[in-house]
Amino acid sequence: INGTLMPVPFNHASLKLAFGDERGEELYQKLVETFGKDVKVPIMELRKKNDPDLAEVADYVYENVFLHYTMKQWGQTPDQIDPSITGRVPVFVGDDDRYFPQAPFQGMPQEGYTALFEHILDHDLIDVFCDVDARDLFEIDETTVKIDELFNLDLGALPYRTLDMKFETLDMDQFQPVGTVNYTTSEDYTRITEFKNMTGQVLPGKTTIMKEYSKAYTPGSGETPYYAILEPENRELYERYLERVQNLTNFHPVGRLAEYRYYDMDAVTNSALDLSDEIIACHA
Ligand code: UDP
Repeated sequence: INGTLMPVPFNHASLKLAFGDERGEELYQKLVETFGKDVKVPIMELRKKNDPDLAEVADYVYENVFLHYTMKQWGQTPDQIDPSITGRVPVFVGDDDRYFPQAPFQGMPQEGYTALFEHILDHDLIDVFCDVDARDLFEIDETTVKIDELFNLDLGALPYRTLDMKFETLDMDQFQPVGTVNYTTSEDYTRITEFKNMTGQVLPGKTTIMKEYSKAYTPGSGETPYYAILEPENRELYERYLERVQNLTNFHPVGRLAEYRYYDMDAVTNSALDLSDEIIACHA
């Protein structure tokens, strides 16, 4: 924020960095009195409080953490998007400075995501086909639904945001002190991730960073649709597509794209495990 590194989610330490030790502590005590300690407060909730101290914090955080970043990420202000989106990164009334305060497990899979997926796909009952059109592989009862209806966007395209990820390898040991720095008041990119800081890779003299630029997704362009845009009319369109596949045997839409949802890795893994329990129970 304006050249100062502060923890996000915005927390006790961020308050002191933003407002100075004394005023920061006063404001922190006010937050604790109001909400309790170790509590997550979404910015859109904090903004509703009718108290001058809380309004001071809310205005600062809204302006310096959320407004410009959200404009870059979504092309809209925090007021214009679904509150659950900014609610993913609430103000944290406490000292935990991790991205998911209090989550018992966080970070990356021990051997990384590649190894995780290799192990999953190694299963005897899983076949993987590359460079094949899925529509050439499915057999679907013509009376139930025509599969081309599922994929040919005949009801219209579901809108998404995509990212341009620009990688740079630099001749230095370390570029930034943490895994990810969000640029909430400056730059065109939203954030820079330095992988070394997450993987523990030791490589003197070189480091790779990645800058994220967010933009609207163009269907059929080959771009990756990363983020569903959570607006009621988009959800309705998704539901209309979903209706067509709901009665198909052995067809289970799961995940960010299949469910048009904004899932974190832990939540999507959980929903895949729940679904497999359900399917196994049906066959038991
Ligand atoms: N956000 C923000 N400033 C930040 C971090 C998050 O404004 O420093 C808002 C922004 O609207 C973003 C949303 O909170 O899209 C969710 O952030 P998160 O980091 O969870 O997004 P993801 O990692 O899924 O891209």
